[in-house]
Amino acid sequence: MSLRKTLQKGKAQARAESGADGAPPSLQPHTAATPPSRTPAAATSMASSSRSPRPGQSGGGTLASKETLNKERSPSTRLAKLLLWVFLIHIGAIYLFTRGFLLSRSVLDAKSECNNTNVDESAFDLQGHGRGEQECWYPQQFKKAVVIVIDALRFDFVVPHYDLTDEPYYINKLPVIHKLLESQPENALVFQFVADPPTTTLQRLKALTTGTLPTIIDAGSNFASSALKEDNWLSQFEASRGQDRVLFMGDDTWTGLFPNVLTVNNSHSFPSLDTHDLDTLDNGVIHALGPALADISKWDLLIAHFLGVDHCGHTFGPNDPHMESKLAQMNDQIERVIDSVSDDTLVVIMGDHGMNGHGDHGGDSDDEIEAGLVLYSKRKLINKSLMDRFSLGDMLQYTKPVGGTVYRTVTQIDLVPTLSLLLGLPIPFNNLGSVIPELFLSATNPDHAIRDLLRAMRLNAAQVSTYFESYKDLHPTSDIALAMQIEFGALFERAERFMRDIGQDSRQQTTEHLVQALRLYSDFLRTSLTSCKRIWAHFDVPLMAAGGGILLASCLCLLVYIVAYRDSSIPPYLERFLAGGTLFGIASARYLKPLLLKVQIIQDSSVGLVDVMIFSMAGFSILGFLISLVLHSRTSAATAVSASARREKKSLLRWIRLPPLSGFLACLFIFVNCLIFASNSYIVHESTFVIGFLQTFGVIGLLFSMRVPDKEARNKAVVMTLSFMVMTRLLSASTVCREEQGHLCLPTFYASAQQSVPSQWSLVMLVASGAITPYVIRRLLSQTKSMNGIALIWIDYGLRLGIILGSVYAVLDFEGSKADGNRNANVGNTFEPLMAGINPGGPYMWLKSTLVRTAFGFALIVGPAAWWSNPLCMDIQMVDEAVDGSGANKVVPGNRGRGTATPAPPPGTQRKVYILGYANAFGASYYVALTMIFLFVMLTQKPLGAIVLSLGLAQISILVELVDIWRDADFARWQQGVVARIQKETGTLASQTDLADDEAGSSKEAAAAAAAAALESVTAESLASAALAKHGQPPTQDLLLPTVVLSLMANLLFFATGHQATLSSIQWSSAFIGVTTLNYFFSPVLVAVNTLGPFMLCAAALPLVVIWKCSPKADKLGKIKLFPELTRLCIMMMMHQSLVLVANMVFTGGMFRRHLMVWKVFAPRFMLQASALVVMDVTLVVVAVLVILARVVKEVGQVLSVRVV
Ligand SMILES: [Zn+2]
Ligand SMILES: [Zn+2]
Repeated sequence: MSLRKTLQKGKAQARAESGADGAPPSLQPHTAATPPSRTPAAATSMASSSRSPRPGQSGGGTLASKETLNKERSPSTRLAKLLLWVFLIHIGAIYLFTRGFLLSRSVLDAKSECNNTNVDESAFDLQGHGRGEQECWYPQQFKKAVVIVIDALRFDFVVPHYDLTDEPYYINKLPVIHKLLESQPENALVFQFVADPPTTTLQRLKALTTGTLPTIIDAGSNFASSALKEDNWLSQFEASRGQDRVLFMGDDTWTGLFPNVLTVNNSHSFPSLDTHDLDTLDNGVIHALGPALADISKWDLLIAHFLGVDHCGHTFGPNDPHMESKLAQMNDQIERVIDSVSDDTLVVIMGDHGMNGHGDHGGDSDDEIEAGLVLYSKRKLINKSLMDRFSLGDMLQYTKPVGGTVYRTVTQIDLVPTLSLLLGLPIPFNNLGSVIPELFLSATNPDHAIRDLLRAMRLNAAQVSTYFESYKDLHPTSDIALAMQIEFGALFERAERFMRDIGQDSRQQTTEHLVQALRLYSDFLRTSLTSCKRIWAHFDVPLMAAGGGILLASCLCLLVYIVAYRDSSIPPYLERFLAGGTLFGIASARYLKPLLLKVQIIQDSSVGLVDVMIFSMAGFSILGFLISLVLHSRTSAATAVSASARREKKSLLRWIRLPPLSGFLACLFIFVNCLIFASNSYIVHESTFVIGFLQTFGVIGLLFSMRVPDKEARNKAVVMTLSFMVMTRLLSASTVCREEQGHLCLPTFYASAQQSVPSQWSLVMLVASGAITPYVIRRLLSQTKSMNGIALIWIDYGLRLGIILGSVYAVLDFEGSKADGNRNANVGNTFEPLMAGINPGGPYMWLKSTLVRTAFGFALIVGPAAWWSNPLCMDIQMVDEAVDGSGANKVVPGNRGRGTATPAPPPGTQRKVYILGYANAFGASYYVALTMIFLFVMLTQKPLGAIVLSLGLAQISILVELVDIWRDADFARWQQGVVARIQKETGTLASQTDLADDEAGSSKEAAAAAAAAALESVTAESLASAALAKHGQPPTQDLLLPTVVLSLMANLLFFATGHQATLSSIQWSSAFIGVTTLNYFFSPVLVAVNTLGPFMLCAAALPLVVIWKCSPKADKLGKIKLFPELTRLCIMMMMHQSLVLVANMVFTGGMFRRHLMVWKVFAPRFMLQASALVVMDVTLVVVAVLVILARVVKEVGQVLSVRVV
């Protein structure tokens, strides 16, 4: 605080005169006699002479401003409030849209148990008449089972086609099944096996073992199949028979899902990554199948998962000779299995999903969801005559004729209860499927058969009902609980009541009544499943539309603000209007909901009271926002009317004023940016678009720069623009590619495409950056003599040490992973092998984590604390100058006003006090804080990512420098124009050309005052004011384009730091930076900062665009006008990102939600955009405005006695 005191003391002696920037620092002081004019000086001076009178404005102004400061809320708080409102609207919109789009279901951990069937047996005792013994819920029908999964086995691959003359390569290639269907129709059954999308293997396997519906979060976790926690028949089987009775071979997705059941002892698992490899995995399975079939006494459950057909589809498509040979191979294996199994074995052959015409899958087209299912046993599976006798036809579903035959169609999850009961297991707790009826009608006695089936169905229904009851207990307000209440809960009760009624009297137990009971249970099962599908597996269009709608509405509002509010500050009472609108929204939600529910489409959706509330809060507060804007413009218009009619016209015109070129370009950029979501291939190649945008900006910037009048500034601007473009090019070279980019992208981010270890040269560069980055920042700040105070300490020591520690950490990490790589060839994908390989308690790990923790400490604790205590980069310097101007100046040795006596100035000299770093008082201080954020983000990055980020910081610095140069150029041009016109009008060729020579202005108000002062000396005062009125205000540089560019730079840095809009590109290893084991607080934060750090950095840099090298010289009222522009830019950045999100929502949710690539391309991009928006909002509101800007403005304002508004 000593600096502030000193400065204030200095001011008490002298008056701060003026300051400017850009030009080389000179130590030209002004004495009180010098007429006020803009002088290029990085350091401003204060004549320190007790004789010089202190103008009354300075001191009095300070006092007045302090009083008003206390009364008014600070502008940064008001800005933060406005931005907070925008942020809350964004959150609400994202919440609504996500609820409609990303479906979620909570997993219940409960497991079904053998001794609790959930059925009230006393009401109606259905004794089993099955063949097996009753050990569990239902008598075991089969002792053993073989489950063969042929990945992507589409339904039409399985069934015979007798009507085709020209057979594709995939038709009629499984003759063994056709033979079974013909020769043993009661032993072999074929079904169309319909999957719930997404049709990806992991989701299918989960559904096929648990009987649950998939959700999008599941689809996202496909890349790392984590262990299945829900109850499933495989775990139940293991629990009842023991692990050694299970044998698995095939795709390692299974071992990932069931790590406790399928261990190295009982499984042969193979990785499934390379889709071009059709045979390795299948040959492995075939090899393992041999001994398994040779000795069938060794297992009770055999699971074999073949991948070749799927890989063949992905690589060659279904209609390819490879498919023929692949299916022929499968045919042989099926034959082999069928020949080997015993009588008490159930053989299940199934596809987990189908494939589309190109051989891909994931979406919900018929070809993708229709897989084939074949059940076979050497014992009779069904009793065909009974099927007809009970006429269960309306409970069953059938396909359209395929190859001339109609087949039964079942939902994939129906296999789960069926298999469980047939194998004598309890049905998994979360199952929603219903038993396949024909498989429980195998008894020869019709009465026994129908009772068997009824018993199975009742067990099934009781299990599902129990599941819903538990779900309701846990989530009483969920949509499922609601649906239960009004849709299907009563159906189960009705069925049970009917059972009780007929259970009293055995005469009532006629076949008709039993079939009726069966129907009641089946009705419950089907209705509840439909409700669940609606709630869990279907997009909720009204919710998505509500989310997109309020986001779009908020964007339009903000657009109005940006267009209409160029120069004025936030309207008074805006907060009250926002709060009022919000409260009104809350109050009216209750009445709005019944109105909305009158619309059919909303009735069908799961819109709840909370959703309506969010919607109406957003809607009414947006209305409040607009009203306050209109009121404010009317009051300003009213003032204008009283002044003059012409003025009023002008102020109304202001509303429809076209944006200047830069604003127009900004809009164009945003528009094209939004169009990226119009196609999945645009999203895939998004990084290319972003580079295109930035290079276009480079070209535009070059044009701007070449129009700079001053030669020196022009050269500087041109060089800077060119280096901006070169840096963009360099950044574009750093990439991890997404698989869809194919050969169009060359991955460079890691040492090789298969690994995620950094290359050695990136480490060398990182170590070098520890020296280069602080040096460059030092040069940058030295331009305005701002290397003082906190900057001196932080840039030279804190930041430098932080980067060095970070790079030593990276080198150690690299060496460690290399050492570990020798032991474990699998290293690279995750950090875990590394952690396992090197003793966590060892000195290596200790050193590593200590280094990086220290660096984090610098970035997050030491640096910010030091900055907070004194954020100024200014210092004062006292110089004794020769009065005669001989230049024999002498700097008074640093006594920073600590109270000790300063030696009196030598005779013949005049003592002057200079404020160093005056010209960039706001910017430098803010910049120092920004470098702390930079260090924090950088430490979470891989080595190349850290270098990329340094380049990014350099680009940000160039951008703000360029903005400053262009701003000065605009001002200089305006000044020249005004002078020329005044000269023309007055006809006086006065010698006031020094005004025109004056260059590199920064503060328009100061300059306007200077111009006015100059005018006063030329002409009469009245003439001057008339001239100013005619020529208008000095130009305001439009900063919308730099704002948009800053946003796009965040995107570029996101890609260049080794990310893509895919979940698989998330750098999970960053979760372990500085922590040895997964930490539930730090690890997610580290991963989030690693991924979204570029967005944080660029959002935090936004205020610099306005305040960088902005002169702190106040106008006559002691004010500096910064916040109108800051507000516009913050709003612009938020609007840009949210418009992109709107486009994303419209295209993803509106047009492409049925698109093949919705889960693979669109949904991850949506998640990225939503989280980027949230991160940028939070950074802007909290970090940039509420903390850094508020502190900078307060401190600089107090020290220099100016009021920032
Ligand atoms: Zn699959
Ligand atoms: Zn596949």
